[in-house]
Amino acid sequence: MFDYLIVGAGFAGSVLAERLANEAGKKVLIIDKRNHIGGNAYDFYDDAGILIHKYGPHIFHTNSPEVFSYLSRFTQWRPYEHRVLTTVEGKLLPIPINLDTVNKLYDKNFTSEELEQFLNSIKEDVKQIRTSEDVVVSQVGRDLYEKFFRGYTRKQWGMDPSELDKAVTSRIPTRTNQDDRYFTDTYQAMPLHGYTRMFEKMLTHPNIHIMLNTDYKDLKGVIPYNKLIFTGPVDEYFDYCYGKLPYRSLNFVHKTYDVRQFQPVAVVNYPNDHEYTRITEYKHLTGQTNEKTSVTYEFPCWNGDPYYPVPKPENAELYQKYKNLADETPDVHFVGRLATYRYYNMDQVVAQALATYNKLSQRTLAEQLVTKKNGWKSQLSAS
Ligand SMILES: Cc1cc2nc3c(=O)[nH]c(=O)nc-3n(C[C@H](O)[C@H](O)[C@H](O)COP(=O)(O)OP(=O)(O)OC[C@H]3O[C@@H](n4cnc5c(N)ncnc54)[C@H](O)[C@@H]3O)c2cc1C
Repeated sequence: MFDYLIVGAGFAGSVLAERLANEAGKKVLIIDKRNHIGGNAYDFYDDAGILIHKYGPHIFHTNSPEVFSYLSRFTQWRPYEHRVLTTVEGKLLPIPINLDTVNKLYDKNFTSEELEQFLNSIKEDVKQIRTSEDVVVSQVGRDLYEKFFRGYTRKQWGMDPSELDKAVTSRIPTRTNQDDRYFTDTYQAMPLHGYTRMFEKMLTHPNIHIMLNTDYKDLKGVIPYNKLIFTGPVDEYFDYCYGKLPYRSLNFVHKTYDVRQFQPVAVVNYPNDHEYTRITEYKHLTGQTNEKTSVTYEFPCWNGDPYYPVPKPENAELYQKYKNLADETPDVHFVGRLATYRYYNMDQVVAQALATYNKLSQRTLAEQLVTKKNGWKSQLSAS
């Protein structure tokens, strides 16, 4: 009999499996319908011997010392600060938009102060910021919006930014200095030997049993367990009783080229040309040396694995209905990106899983106290 069945061996499931086995001494069965652990962060060596990410580039960054120190138990790190270039009118320009982006695009020589004035003169006055378009045009005006954001967002989401919630673009900054880092978090690094190796270390414990190629629906009622942690899609768990939660998906096309370097940085965005949104070259992330290089093209689509919850008010309402059902199911814990229908970064999922473990261990402690108290009561009444 397992204490816990954990559905999904991504960050959410693996962190909980590790904590429950290592810290609480619980017997855990963790399953995944895929043929590997690591969820969407899974990486592997391709035919050319290059470490690539099966589900697109995963760049680790966090401001949380707790999350970083927790993961550091299972991996060493390679310092890496992410930089992205965007192709606009035949030029490769840094994104997020910064001083160099604007100067190179318009052949200017602005200082930071001048850029600030320039942006103030071109930004639009939007009374109420509701959509992704509102967010961007109110910061950088129509021309930069059209060149850098509109096409990319339309490809990525299959919708115009004017139809998308403001949350999608509100986390993209505009900088008036030359800082061309994609993220500004305190901790920015890649697992030295890759994500999969890190997951292997997390899950290597005599109390953890792993079953791959195993869908939860095929296991229901077959294997006995006490409690369930579900990190798959919450609507799937409840048999889509209120309908399907929509997701945007991606088709990844992996290629190897017979050159040492394909592009100057790890990720190059294509907002206006081609059907793909971006190309990732992994050697920049990993520092690997090889005569060849491997890259991934990302083609957004509607059919396929669920990757991005679609941020629209009607979807938030639909999720709320499932959340209410989940709240009424106390012996099942819904954790992670799919089970809470939120676009979380890896560090946020780790933090959510660690918080869930803390809640579970407090609950277990409370249950043990009640059992003990009941034992004393019956001893007293017998004597
Ligand atoms: C293209 C892309 C790029 C990303 N880049 C970054 C990045 O650069 N930095 C960052 O911090 N985050 C990034 N993320 C987000 C990151 O992938 C997630 O935060 C993280 O993987 C979520 O972990 P999870 O455990 O919640 O979900 P997942 O990794 O999706 O794991 C859930 C697992 O559950 C399994 N499962 C589902 N249903 C069942 C079932 N019925 N039975 C058995 N198994 C089931 C799935 O197969 C899956 O392996 C990116 C995501 C995508 C899609």
